[in-house]
Amino acid sequence: MTSDLRIPADLLPADGRFGSGPSKVSDAALAALAASGRSLMGTSHRQAPVKNLVARVQDRLARLFSLPDGYQVVLGLGGSTAFWDVATFGLVRERSQHVSFGEFGGKFAQAAVDAPWLADPVVVTGAPGTLATPYAVDGVDTYAWPHNETSTGVMAPVLRPAGIAEDALVVVDGTSAAGGALVDVAETDVYYFAPQKGFAADGGLWFALMSPAALERAAEVKASGRFIPAFLDLTTAIENSAKNQTLNTPAIATLFLMAEQLDWMLAGGGLPGMAARTAASSSTVYDWAEASPFATPYVVDPAARSQVVATVDFATEGEHAVDAAVVAQVLRANGVVDTDPYRKLGRNQLRIATFPAVDPADVAALVACVDWVVERL
Ligand SMILES: *Cc1c(COP(=O)(O)O)cnc(C)c1O
Repeated sequence: MTSDLRIPADLLPADGRFGSGPSKVSDAALAALAASGRSLMGTSHRQAPVKNLVARVQDRLARLFSLPDGYQVVLGLGGSTAFWDVATFGLVRERSQHVSFGEFGGKFAQAAVDAPWLADPVVVTGAPGTLATPYAVDGVDTYAWPHNETSTGVMAPVLRPAGIAEDALVVVDGTSAAGGALVDVAETDVYYFAPQKGFAADGGLWFALMSPAALERAAEVKASGRFIPAFLDLTTAIENSAKNQTLNTPAIATLFLMAEQLDWMLAGGGLPGMAARTAASSSTVYDWAEASPFATPYVVDPAARSQVVATVDFATEGEHAVDAAVVAQVLRANGVVDTDPYRKLGRNQLRIATFPAVDPADVAALVACVDWVVERL
């Protein structure tokens, strides 16, 4: 039985969590949460201790991203998926453009297609594993794309497209890229993300770094009288965030874990330090795959390969054919988890998160473990 394969302990990574979200949460942050005891958990989110925790997260995010003047750190409940609905209700004036080259970019596009109060969006599509690029279109007031397409491991540039209307908004999904890749937030009007990927916390919240133009747009759309469900009302989130609060009860542990991770990131060189770390980890995977007889990087264009989510195809035929699902199963049986590919992609593939929290030495151990397993299948 392949599931009986026992990987030697000295080959195993110290921490076997390589999931692309939820992702590895550091032992130190979990210990700090436990040590916080009765000071935060189980206390009111309308009182100073939790409001100060929200303020700490907002302040650290502003520092990590060198937040440009006038930008605001806004947060709300429901994760990045909720933010797509927040944006179709409260940011898009009339017509958006969506770049879709995988599951997540596609989902935001679909939200706009389904919104009867908006004109049909322009959807720019790229095949999975490739990159597609936004471009100026007359009448488009909002341009949206993912910084990192987590389903395929494709990374996109974050640059304001040339020639777009002066008041058009650039709305970038940084859910998995944020914290692990360099970004100039000034190229965006909204850079949004969730805590359970690069920030090594738990799910359930969305964060949006909003420019003055985006704050103004939210006010303009609200004033137009459009029906906006209270839970998805961006102007309410903006007002609450300015007071270090959320409309309804947030997950306090998520905020705590994120604050701990942000402190760790800032102490480790901030965004440049984290980007160097994820680049080292992902290079380990890509270099190994390039040299391997049975593995190849899924993303053909090296410039489009993600530094935070590395996808590797395995040969499906010939003498080097390897069933990636079996490898992932054996790894799991040995405590190395969540290397499975994005379920809907349906490829013979491993997907390895190389977020900042993941130790580059553990990534090196992981590829050695894969070689060890494949030799014995
Ligand atoms: C995970 C992910 C999402 C969805 O995030 P949730 O917080 O689970 O809603 C959206 N976009 C990208 C790029 C993601 O990786």
